[in-house]
Amino acid sequence: RAHLDRIAAVDGDVHAFLHVSDHALEVAAGIDRRRAAGEALGPVAGVPLAIKDVLVTTDMPSTSGSKILEGYMSPYDATVVARSRAAGLVPLGKTNMDEFAMGSSTEHSAYGPTRNPWDLDRIPGGSGGGSAAAVAAFEAPLALGSDTGGSIRQPAHVTGTVGLKPTYGGVSRYGAIALASSLDQVGPVTRTVLDAGLLHDVIGGHDPHDSTSLSDAWPSFAEAAREGARGDVLKGLKVGVIKELPDAGFQPGVSASFRSALAAMEAQGAEIVEISAPHFEYGVAAYYLILPAEASSNLAKFDSVRFGLRVDVPGGTVEDVMARTRDVGFGDEVKRRIILGTYALSAGYYDAYYGSAQKVRTLIQQDFDSAFASVDVIATPSAPTTAFRLGEKIDDPMQMYLNDVTTIPANLAGVPGISIPSGLADEDGLPVGIQFLAPAREDARLYRVGAALE
Ligand code: GLN
Repeated sequence: RAHLDRIAAVDGDVHAFLHVSDHALEVAAGIDRRRAAGEALGPVAGVPLAIKDVLVTTDMPSTSGSKILEGYMSPYDATVVARSRAAGLVPLGKTNMDEFAMGSSTEHSAYGPTRNPWDLDRIPGGSGGGSAAAVAAFEAPLALGSDTGGSIRQPAHVTGTVGLKPTYGGVSRYGAIALASSLDQVGPVTRTVLDAGLLHDVIGGHDPHDSTSLSDAWPSFAEAAREGARGDVLKGLKVGVIKELPDAGFQPGVSASFRSALAAMEAQGAEIVEISAPHFEYGVAAYYLILPAEASSNLAKFDSVRFGLRVDVPGGTVEDVMARTRDVGFGDEVKRRIILGTYALSAGYYDAYYGSAQKVRTLIQQDFDSAFASVDVIATPSAPTTAFRLGEKIDDPMQMYLNDVTTIPANLAGVPGISIPSGLADEDGLPVGIQFLAPAREDARLYRVGAALE
């Protein structure tokens, strides 16, 4: 009730939600009855949950922020949603996002932007700005996001929340409307590292519905967070700092917050080690070929026949109807990426663009392999600037893309990454995050380190 009241009070300004559940109280009452009947329920039973609209749900529409899916009702729940319901989490609603998760500001949503609760003239990050804003504005205690190039971590950075992108394959993608299948991962957005671990424990683990799902037995991430909070995990921890990451482009307050977080870690016994990852900075260039290529293929299914919108063309052919529907149903950023992707994959250009980008991807993976031979985690600022103003970068896609320089490499390499708050920038008083990256399968290390620093 408190969260629904809060949504009613502030969401007119924040616009974190695209849809608020009309039966959340009923679901919550059902959980109370099960508890009263003596059923042993898990630690998150009865806790409200906001769900990014990229995740399909049977009881609420799923649009992925696009007009082409307006009102779309899924016949099944995403695995992460089904697991959340089974654990007794109470879905509050679906959160706003850039259309098909393409963007860093939530301004590319077909349903209007979300605003940053810290300053309503500023962006809440993207693509999962709705989930992060809901958590930051106390409209929801926990949220689900998806991260293909930073869409969990960068919104966490600009809203003072915690966001974690799991190891690729650690959380099921079944029922996550695909953007770029080799990069997409679902993960938690919360106010504390322990909360993120509790949610990750619910949604993670092998899923036979997702062929890229790892069959590993995962440790408890909540337990890892508790260990981090009470132990001396920073003592002797080797923290890598990338020497090639250009200082230029980072807002002074972001760099200062990063340096003071490192100093705080050093004071608790961590060793800061300079490492070389020479291809890290080419991540953006490789990603903005690989992602459009995969996205152009994934979005081909929105053909006016199988899903969502159909715009009839009287007397027209099937092709006319498809073309008209896609013209009306997709926004500019989606069209830009479909065109770029089909071009990069076309005969004669495949080797030059897509093929080269895949080679750069391998070089980035090798950079990580050699770095993790000598350090336990890598630290970077989570993004180059604090929340920028709405409208500031919307007409300049290149500026928008460059915002992802620190988050993208983790997706290209498949390694886990967390963003936790590291303070406020001096010049504007807005939240800043620090990102930690760990080797694949070492998500628990991020929970320990994040909780120790929190
Ligand atoms: N900002 C990145 C993009 O526009 C990340 C998107 C994401 O992680 N879904 O592609």
